[in-house]
Amino acid sequence: MNYKASNKLQDLQYFGEYGGVNPSISDSSTYTFLSAKTMFDTFEGNTEGCYLYSRHSSPSNLYLGEALAALEGTETANVTASGMGAITAVILQLCDANDHLVSSRTIYGGTYAFMKNFLKRFNIGTSFVDITNLTAVEKAITPKTKMIYCEGVSNPLLEVADIKALSKLAKKFGIPLVVDNTFSPLTIAPGKLGADIIIHSLTKFINGTSDCVAGAVCGTKDFCLALKDVNNGAGMLLGSTLDSLRAASILKNMRTLHIRMKKHGENALYLAENFQKDGLRVVYPGLKSHPGHRVLKDQMNPEYGYGGLMTLDVGSLDRANALMEMLQDKKLGYLAVSLGFYKTLFSAPGTSTSSEILIEEQKAMGLGDGLIRFSIGLDNDIHRTYCTMKDCMVQLGILVSSTTVV
Ligand code: PLP
Repeated sequence: MNYKASNKLQDLQYFGEYGGVNPSISDSSTYTFLSAKTMFDTFEGNTEGCYLYSRHSSPSNLYLGEALAALEGTETANVTASGMGAITAVILQLCDANDHLVSSRTIYGGTYAFMKNFLKRFNIGTSFVDITNLTAVEKAITPKTKMIYCEGVSNPLLEVADIKALSKLAKKFGIPLVVDNTFSPLTIAPGKLGADIIIHSLTKFINGTSDCVAGAVCGTKDFCLALKDVNNGAGMLLGSTLDSLRAASILKNMRTLHIRMKKHGENALYLAENFQKDGLRVVYPGLKSHPGHRVLKDQMNPEYGYGGLMTLDVGSLDRANALMEMLQDKKLGYLAVSLGFYKTLFSAPGTSTSSEILIEEQKAMGLGDGLIRFSIGLDNDIHRTYCTMKDCMVQLGILVSSTTVV
């Protein structure tokens, strides 16, 4: 895997109106046309180079879209008001009533709820499968299936999708492979591995400052234009549009993504390796013990590391809650959902971000109620963090001595 996304991002140059080093922000919802004919043509779909209304597109959103296309190596990208805005638009663009999709069973709880509950209104069924079992994925495909959907590294169980193999399968059946790459920007470039559409919640690592909600769809020009079509585009008609001011601030944050991803990954690997030595039930795709380690190693850009997400199973919800509260008291992070912040964030997904998934289903996929998901921060002294976390676990009886798990 050798796609140099950070070089592509670095080479993008936009100047502001007066030669500023940042592009000017388009502070307008609507745009003037020099002739009535151009306005008519634009509404007929000849939108190249024209702005008509900011729900359709705006210069600031297009700049951010170009940066995301460079990140993923796709022809283009559309930005949206949230990750869910991207996911729902893609699914509704590709599926008609009575269609079907095959999805990984371990995905973000909101995506799962949308597929399982909301799509019922249109009689669109979803088969949730173990995405690492290619036979099960293939078996689930029917003549009505309109896509295979997965996350590059899954929320919250950190399963790794074999994108090359899934793409081969999708191509065999003539359907697109849609990959949510929110957990692994830069680490994986799914488009370069054969994925057709790549989705991001920009809310997370890409923005990195936990101050906004945004999303993106990266893909072909045809697909992204179809999403914006004034008559039939799910992006345009469902109206999940990102505000230009936010697009501009996300673009500025994206410039440090490569540095942040390396540090998140370095810190997470340090903690995971040491917690594993301590005998804790830690899951991190950078550990050789992780079932998806080899697949990730084969398909990743190694310079960015294995990502900032790690899970620890401490056996029960009570223990998980006590540990998270103590870690917050010790200023090691925040008991909060979401990810990609400079500070470590932790939550128990079974009762938060994956609570939409029924308890029996959580159990079947290996999501125990003692599981804590950590988005490891940019701590400068990760050894100090490790020692303090370990002290907390000893105090709570999760570790009896420095290396024995209860
Ligand atoms: N995809 C993944 C993997 C997520 O974790 C989330 C949110 O947690 C989303 C999508 C949804 O993104 P947003 O909250 O920006 O709508």
